[in-house]
Amino acid sequence: MSNITFTMIKPDAVANGYTGKIIDQILEAGFTIQAMKYVRLSEETAGAFYDIHRERSFFKELVDFMTSGTIVAAVLVKDNAVADFRTLIGATDPAKAEPGTVRNRFAKSIEANAIHGSDSDANAAHEASFFFSAFERF
Ligand code: GDP
Repeated sequence: MSNITFTMIKPDAVANGYTGKIIDQILEAGFTIQAMKYVRLSEETAGAFYDIHRERSFFKELVDFMTSGTIVAAVLVKDNAVADFRTLIGATDPAKAEPGTVRNRFAKSIEANAIHGSDSDANAAHEASFFFSAFERF
C-alpha cells in the first residue's frame, strides 16, 4: 500500500482561482501536505514530465497547456494515497468524472482538467523527486 502521491493543480484551475478550494478538498479527504510550491513549467520540463505521452496526438497541446501559466506542485501523504487520490480527482474527462470529484467541480475539458494525480506508486516516487529535493519535503 502506498503512502505518497504527487499532484499538480493545473494552469486552468490556478488561473480560475480554485487553488484554495482544491487544497481544502484534498485536506478534507485526509491527505497531508509533505511539500508544495508554485512552479512555471518550461517546454523542456513539461515535455520531460509527460515523456510517456510523447507519441500521443495531443502531446504538443498538452505541453502548450501545461506551460501556459503557473501550477501548484505538491507531494501528499495518506494510506493508499495513489488510489484514494485518483478517486478524489475523478476521471480524466470531467464530463465522465463522478459528482463531487475535483475534476467534476473545477475542470472544463479533457485537457484543462484542473489537476494531476500519479497513477502508480513508482510514478508517484518519480514525479515527487522530479519536482522536489529531499530538503523541500517535510
Ligand atoms: P490522467 O492520468 O487522468 O491525468 O490522464 P492521462 O495520463 O491519460 O493524460 C495526461 C493528461 O493529458 C490529462 O490529464 C490531460 O490533461 C491530457 N489529455 C489526456 N487525454 C487528452 C486528449 O484526448 N486531448 C488533450 N488535448 N489532452 C488530453
